[in-house]
Parts: sequence; structure tokens; C-alpha cells
Amino acid sequence: MSAATSARTILSRLHEVMASRIHAQGKLDQVVQIIGEELDSEVCSIYLLREGSLELFATRGLNQTAVHVTRLGIGEGLTGQIADHVETLNLAEAAAHPDFAHRPETGEDMYHSFAGVPIVRRQRAIGVLNVQHVDPRKYEDVEIEALQTVAMVLAELIDNAELVDGEDAGDGQGNLAESLKLDGLALVKGLASGTAVYHQPRITIEQTVADDIEAERQRVYRAFDRMREQIDHMTSQAEFGIGGDGEEVLQTYKMFAYDEGWGRRINEAIDSGLTAEAAIERVQQRTRMRMREIDDPLLRDRMHDLEDLANRLLRIVSGQLGTAATKGLRGDTILIARNLGPAELLEYDKRRLKGVVLEEGSLTAHVVIVARAMGIPVLGQVGGLRSHLREGDHILIDADRAAVTLRPSQTIIDTFETRFAKNRKRQAAYAAMRDVEPFSRDGTRVHVMMNAGLRDDMSALSLTGADGIGLFRTEFQFLVSATMPARDRQVRLYRDVLDSAGDKPVIFRTVDIGGDKAVPYLNSEHAIREENPAMGWRALRLAMERKGLLKAQARSLLEASAGRNLNVMFPMVSEPWEFDAAKCVFEEQIAFLKKQKKVLPDQIRYGAMLEVPALAEVLDILVPKLSFISIGTNDLTQFLFAADRANPKLAERYDWLSPAILRFLRRIVQSTIGSQIDVAVCGEMGGRRLEALALLGLGIRRLSITPAAVGPIKELVRKVDLTEIGEAMNGWLISPPEDLRATMLAWAEERGIETD
Ligand code: PEP
Ligand code: MG
Repeated sequence: MSAATSARTILSRLHEVMASRIHAQGKLDQVVQIIGEELDSEVCSIYLLREGSLELFATRGLNQTAVHVTRLGIGEGLTGQIADHVETLNLAEAAAHPDFAHRPETGEDMYHSFAGVPIVRRQRAIGVLNVQHVDPRKYEDVEIEALQTVAMVLAELIDNAELVDGEDAGDGQGNLAESLKLDGLALVKGLASGTAVYHQPRITIEQTVADDIEAERQRVYRAFDRMREQIDHMTSQAEFGIGGDGEEVLQTYKMFAYDEGWGRRINEAIDSGLTAEAAIERVQQRTRMRMREIDDPLLRDRMHDLEDLANRLLRIVSGQLGTAATKGLRGDTILIARNLGPAELLEYDKRRLKGVVLEEGSLTAHVVIVARAMGIPVLGQVGGLRSHLREGDHILIDADRAAVTLRPSQTIIDTFETRFAKNRKRQAAYAAMRDVEPFSRDGTRVHVMMNAGLRDDMSALSLTGADGIGLFRTEFQFLVSATMPARDRQVRLYRDVLDSAGDKPVIFRTVDIGGDKAVPYLNSEHAIREENPAMGWRALRLAMERKGLLKAQARSLLEASAGRNLNVMFPMVSEPWEFDAAKCVFEEQIAFLKKQKKVLPDQIRYGAMLEVPALAEVLDILVPKLSFISIGTNDLTQFLFAADRANPKLAERYDWLSPAILRFLRRIVQSTIGSQIDVAVCGEMGGRRLEALALLGLGIRRLSITPAAVGPIKELVRKVDLTEIGEAMNGWLISPPEDLRATMLAWAEERGIETD
């Protein structure tokens, strides 16, 4: 007898029981009879988790007087062991097992063989299904398989009838009940508390026993086809929307998606009478059990890939396609994901999203920049997170200490609250500095501006007292839109931004899409596979070539700034002619508007981002053409070190305070001496105190940073003597100390300058 037929006979009998209108207890009583008969076992029993222990709920063969009387603690006896470890036991001689616990009231003395499987719901054991036999024989694999399949069906019945403890109750499942601290990499600092919600929600299976096996098979075939299409599409988009070491992950996805073994196993599970959803989950359960026995971190990683993919397949087959954002957040939420794209993050309700924990992630990935702009703490590179976490768990993110606590105890919560309160006090102190102008100790006015990209960000301008918007990332509007934002929508946004900025300057950067900023409506039309999207068809390159895109944006910016000042900046300028060409698009639009007798901006200032190293070599040619440059250290450093900014493996490898970067930046500053242009830094580097100190030492007097950093950086500026740090920096760059970061830290500490 094959596993499928054995399970199939049982399931076809169970099908009627499940569909009948009798109450849950009656169904369980019938289930034990059916299994006992089909597996030719004298005894079949079901134990369910109630008030923290396993209660005998139904039995065939044991004393009926023991039902609802016999209780076993989690970990107690063989049944308790099965629930505790969520594992199967198959023994010829039960009493010989060291964990065997004798319960005289059940009358089980005469039975020798024993097999039991956990009844699992949402990855926790909610009960145990046992069979026992007089003869000392081990059960065959097919019988165990059948038991496991039946246990899945029972899980549905039990859950629907609410026969067991809720998820919040201490379920004694040790590793998932206790509080646990995991370390990660702080991507956006801060503290946050909330309920864990998976970005890709886990699917709850509504029906486990199939009505029509053939129909279920077809559903799985179609879902496989769709999933393969999606994976192929993602692969053709290279790392768009995935980020990190997406490439490697995609290859693994692809391997699994086309793995015949996986498909076959699901098919066999369907043969046994399960629905498509239940069959996918059944196979996944089996793989999980097997994987648990293998202690190999590499394999565990691959297991996560397979989990992702199985979850994707489940979502397709069940039609539950949305992310947690589509479903909407209910309360204070900590979002859990392997990785996220910036557009995906922007879909979330900002009031409820309190923090993000990623299994991957790196400091300058755009999703992190977006989170920083939203003021949401992010902890990245928390390995193995999902094996320790259940959806709905309480989580505390302490990104200041690069850690996350799952299911914190009251003591931990109390300590956290104290720190939270302290943080709020510090924030209030920064807020109180909003009207304080950042003059350095030697009396130089440093310009501390902020980066923005959303309408909502603008409120931070008055809250922080920043000197203006040094970088408005216009692509955010493109990222959150399902289609290309029409001109009127662009005009409205730019106008609103200028209105809320009042007298303070705003520098609009033209769209920088491509790279890790995926825009599906553009990519699908130009689906060329890019090996290195960050160095590919993005930003100005794309905007110039894509007919109408820059033109429409130029017109929108000009119209929105009618009668006011317009500062426009081009991203990823690599050679001076690109700046000329982009400016020319604006000039054509100005000529057009003039002809139409439209009001033009009072003044237009053009600038360029300096983020491609090559541009630094031709500043003598470029500088006379423009009014300002802004150094984008995020991209600049990724190109200087040839280190993908979105690759988590490289996230901590190179230091912004390396002589290579600092010497390069100094060269840029020196090339502009004597010109009238403004030189600013608008990368994330400027928002960190020690790095900002270094920039001041290099002669940078304008910073545009994330709003949360404005207060801390203003405070820093007021403590620094620019001549002193300038001289120190000169010395360090002529003959760099072995560890420049440590040297600078000591230098700052000696002077009572607080660093991060
Ligand atoms: C940069 O590259 O430093 C920058 C500010 O631009 P973005 O992070 O948007 O690429
Ligand atoms: Mg950039």
C-alpha cells in the first residue's frame, strides 16, 4: 500500500465526518475509530493542548473514563515529548523509551508499540495523535505518513472548533514562548515596540480535505506555472525590487520552482486526498521536520528560500495575494521581512508602522533611506529571525543597541520604557534647538538642511528648524504610484512642497529611478536584464532617454515655481555634457512657457549631484556651468569601493572614515575653491556625527541630512572649532593613523564632543 492510498482511504472516510453537522467532540470520537480501524491499531488517541497541558480528548482502545481526565505536561511522557519537540515518535516498545510515563487510569499496560505525531497549527503543536498496538512492531513509513496527513486535517478541525489554547497562552513550546534577544545591524536608529506582522502574510488554510482531487491537481499546476512566470520575470529584472544579494536568492528560488521532486511530492499529497493548499503545507511540514535534524546554517538559509517560495505558491493558489500593507495594519506594528523595496515600505500606514526588522538589509539601500525619512527604526541582518518568531509576537526593537527582543518579559519592557522616555526627552531637547542657528565655536554659520521626498516629510522642516530642503527626492512620488505620475499631479506635489517650505530653499532633484528603486511601469517596457543596475540605466540616463519623462518633469517644476525660486539638481551626472543636455531640456520648456505667456520662476539655479567618481576629474569644466553641487556619498562610496550599497554582505566592510573616501572628498572641495558655487553633502554620511565632524574638517559647510539628524548635527556644529578640526584632518590625511575612526573618536571625546 502506498502512502497516498493509505491516507486516501482514511481521508475519504474523514471527509464525511468533517462535512457532517455533529459537534467537534463527536467528530474526534469518530476520527479515532476510523484511524484505528484503517491502521489496524487497537488504540488510537487524540490529546489536545488545554490550559497548558495535553488532555486526552478522544480514544479508541484506552479506558473511556480517562477521557478529559488524563493530562500530561508538555515534555511529559512520550506524548509530551512529541508536542514539545514537534516531532514524530515510532517505537516498537514504548516502555523502553526513557521518557515513557505510565498512566494506570488509561489501561495502556498491554500495548507495546507506539507511534505519535504532533498536530501542528501555525508551526506550533496544538495536540498529539497516537496509535498503539499489542504487538511490539514499529509502524511502517506509509502508516506514519498517513498519520501525519490526518494530523493536518485534525489541526483544521480543532482550530475551527477552538478546542485548544489560543496562541497567546503559554503553550510550553519552550523555544517559541520564551523571551529571546537577537542581534542585528542598526540601519535606522531608534526604539520601537509593537506586534510582529509578516510583510508576506502566512496563509491560513481554510479547507484541508479535497472535494475533487483532479480539480486540486489542476489548481496546483496552474499555481506552479504562475509562480515560475513570476520568478522568471524577477530574474529578468535582475535585483530590481529585491535588493541585497537578490541574485543568489533568485537562483535558489528558480532551482526550487523548477524542482521536479517538490512538485511530485505535492502531487502525491493531493493524491492522498488533500486540497492544493493543504498539500503544499503538508510537504512543507515534512521538509521542516527533516531540516530540523540537519544542523547546517547554509541549508537553513536555503530552507528559508523554500519557505518563501512555498508561501508564494500558497498565496497564488489561495488567491490571497496582497502583502500586509494591502490587508492594512491594525495596531502598533513591527514589520518582518527578508528584504523590502522602498515602494513596498511606502505602502504602509505610517501611523501604525513603528519599526522594521529585516533578515537582510544594508545601510544605504533605498528602503533604509525611506525608512529613515519616515522616522522608522530598522534593524537589519537579523539571521534566523523567522525560525524564532511567530506572527503576533510582541517585539521590541532597540536599534540604538542593534538588537531586537522577541516576546519580552515585563522586566525587559520596563527597562525599555525607561529608555524610551529618555529618548523622548532627548528628542525634545533637539526640538528645543530648532530656532538655534548652527554657528560653530569659531563663529562660522554651517547650513544644516534636510532630505525629503514625500509631502508628509515637509512638516519636519519647521519641527527641526532645518535651513531648507537640500535634497528633495522627486522619485518617491514615482515609486508610490502604480502608473507614471501625470504632470498635474507632479505640479501639485511640487507646489505643496514649495508652499510648506515658505522662505526656505528647496532643491528638487529630478527623478532617480532604476537601480534598487524599481518602478514597474517603466521597467516592464524596457525589460533588459541588467547585471549591475546601480551602474546601469538609471537616473538622468533613463530620464533623458525615456521620451517625455524629463520634459514632463521640467515643465511641472517650472510651472510649480512660477513667481518663485527654482533649484533643480540632476542625479548621476557622469560627464559635463549630460548636465548640459539636461539643462537644455529645461531651457526648451522655458522657451515653450514663454511663448505661452506663462509666468516663469523668478530665478532658476541648476546643480548636479556628484556621485559618479569620474565627474570629480572634470570639475574645472563643470563648475563654471552651474550654481551648486551636492555630493551624494551613498552612491559615490559604492562606486569608489566597487561595493554595492544594497548588498548586506558588504554593509560593514568599508568605512566612510577611510582615508580613501576622505581624500577624495577633500579633492572635490579643493577643486571648487575660488568658485562661487555651493558645495554640499547630501548622502547618509552627513547625518552621523563622527562622519559629519570629518566633513566639517574637510571644509564642507553645507549638509543635507535625514530630519532626525538635524538636531544632533546642529548640536555638534556648535561644539566644533572648524579651524581646529580642519588642521587635525589635514594631519590625518597626510599621514593616516591605522584606525582613523578610533583616532577621531578619541579626538572628539577629549573635547567633550558627543558622537553617535
Ligand atoms: C547619494 O547617492 O548619496 C544620494 C543622496 O542619492 P540617493 O541616496 O537617493 O541615491
Ligand atoms: Mg545617489
